[in-house]
Amino acid sequence: MKWPRSASEVHLALADGLRASIVQELKIPCAPPWIGESPWLSDDPEIRKRAAESCFDCPVLDECREAGRKEHFGVWGGKDRTLIPRVSHETNNPIESDNNTIQENS
Ligand code: SF4
Repeated sequence: MKWPRSASEVHLALADGLRASIVQELKIPCAPPWIGESPWLSDDPEIRKRAAESCFDCPVLDECREAGRKEHFGVWGGKDRTLIPRVSHETNNPIESDNNTIQENS
């Protein structure tokens, strides 16, 4: 399989780790099959939290966590990188802002 030349080293390291894990028939917790949407990419924070807990014995946990450091959605390496929208206390509407925080489990 060819990888994009522009992919960063961390993503290449993750890809190499995934490839080696598959060759060794190691279990990757987020690999399909699952029913419906991927729990690691769910819109539901509770589902993502449970998915993140399933990452703990993944053979590429460290590589995945490193690759996900700049991601803003989904679970990467046992951490939920999803940005949490800020909500106005006055209107209860989402606030457009660059100051969103990252929700991390653990
Ligand atoms: S550490 Fe990454 S590759 Fe492993 S199960 Fe979690 S999200 Fe998937």
